[in-house]
Amino acid sequence: MRRFDCVVVGGGLAGLLAAYEANQAGKTVAIYEAGEHCGGAIASIKIAGFQVDAGAESFATTRPETLALIEELGLSELVVAPARSDARIYTEGQAFVIPHGMMGIPSDLTDAQTIAILGTDAAQLAVTLDSQPWNITEEQTLGDVVAKRLGAAVVEKIVNPIVSGVHASDSYLLEMESLLPGLLAKAEELGSLHQAVKLMRGSASRPGSAVAGINGGINLITRRLYALLKERGVQIFQQSPVSHASFNAVWTIETKTENVQADYLVIATNPVIARSILADFPDIASLLSQINPIDVALVLVAVKAPELSAQPLGSGVLVADQGGELIAKASTHVSAKWEWVKKLVGDLEIVRLSYGRNGIVESNDEHLLEFAQRDLSKLYGLANPEIMDSVVVRWPESLIQARVGHRDNLKKLDQTLTNHPGLMIVGSAVSGNGIAGVIGRTRTNMKGLLSV
Ligand SMILES: Cc1cc2nc3c(=O)[nH]c(=O)nc-3n(C[C@H](O)[C@H](O)[C@H](O)COP(=O)(O)OP(=O)(O)OC[C@H]3O[C@@H](n4cnc5c(N)ncnc54)[C@H](O)[C@@H]3O)c2cc1C
Repeated sequence: MRRFDCVVVGGGLAGLLAAYEANQAGKTVAIYEAGEHCGGAIASIKIAGFQVDAGAESFATTRPETLALIEELGLSELVVAPARSDARIYTEGQAFVIPHGMMGIPSDLTDAQTIAILGTDAAQLAVTLDSQPWNITEEQTLGDVVAKRLGAAVVEKIVNPIVSGVHASDSYLLEMESLLPGLLAKAEELGSLHQAVKLMRGSASRPGSAVAGINGGINLITRRLYALLKERGVQIFQQSPVSHASFNAVWTIETKTENVQADYLVIATNPVIARSILADFPDIASLLSQINPIDVALVLVAVKAPELSAQPLGSGVLVADQGGELIAKASTHVSAKWEWVKKLVGDLEIVRLSYGRNGIVESNDEHLLEFAQRDLSKLYGLANPEIMDSVVVRWPESLIQARVGHRDNLKKLDQTLTNHPGLMIVGSAVSGNGIAGVIGRTRTNMKGLLSV
């Protein structure tokens, strides 16, 4: 039977990075990846003959982890700021520039953009509510807290479209502390939610200015990691899904063709798969079953339309629930947002539409393509678009819906893992959605694991 010091199950960003950390620590390492390619939600796809990002396409620069990894991988020179970062919110048939704030919570209630979206009455109500003595006691969801401090209109018209664009979920379902750690405590200290946002968001001018990308696509991060691991002798087995893990003095994993042993076992899959692999360990499996991953899908469209050259929605648009009039929850005007894409595609425009509000995605690709054509024309105001190519990319069970209790559950999971020496779980299941969080937590978890 094959044996390694460390076996990693799942070759997405977290799995690749976990293997990198174990290799740096001098361990023999193998990665078992179910798919044809490593990289997971960081991937590339060909549209109209051009290679662009098929999943994640930018990273937060408000945290240092991603830039630090990029530097270690020798990719710093390729980091680019978005050419445009002025996304819009589409609500009640109109597009508005997103006000400065965090996750849609405005930092300035008297700002013209905030008043334009909310209307004067709702904007005044927000001022009145947030001037009241601090009154948040039981509320834990982002939607509940914002509604109580700033009014329901702020949730529906600004927060929900943005949260849905990023996390594919309604803000009334999501735990505030998981999404915006520390904001509630700061707001309580200051006695004002929007003042806390102002303080924590700092002076960055626009919402999108806190992200960066990579010339050629952020899939270069996982591709470079993969190449580096290969160079260093890490064994990578693709199309090798792992179905089961057991422990008897050493860890044993089962693939379709073989059993493999290891001193350290790192699970870097989504929580549903992780639970099934770790079914022999009910203490862990039951905590994993509390973590809810949801589906999203993207439709990338290569299009010729004169209206798009004016970039009518800036870098893109986050769509408030329009009650069926529009199905997309968000859209990125990729060739407006990234100069490298524009240079690549010439007179074409690349737009991506994102589906899966609250994890509900049309299952038929043909229908999804029809929705995308209709949504594209409505959102961007196109009279007669010439669609040159379009492609559906599905990301099942790939975004974590951090419901109330999520953080407590993760704390219990951390504690329970200490009863299983040599076992670690990494990836968005435990870090939440976002590259910076995945990188930071994977590195911390691996240092903890390898120090034992
Ligand atoms: C459409 C989309 C857009 C996003 N956009 C952004 C963005 O712009 N910026 C940002 O910061 N974050 C973004 N995110 C989130 C970010 O991409 C993820 O949080 C991160 O990539 C997750 O990495 P991971 O390694 O935890 O999981 P994954 O990337 O899901 O990797 C898990 C891997 O496990 C493999 N696997 C599954 N089952 C098995 C098995 N049985 N055996 C072996 N292997 C298995 C899978 O094939 C996959 O390769 C986006 C996510 C999605 C889905």
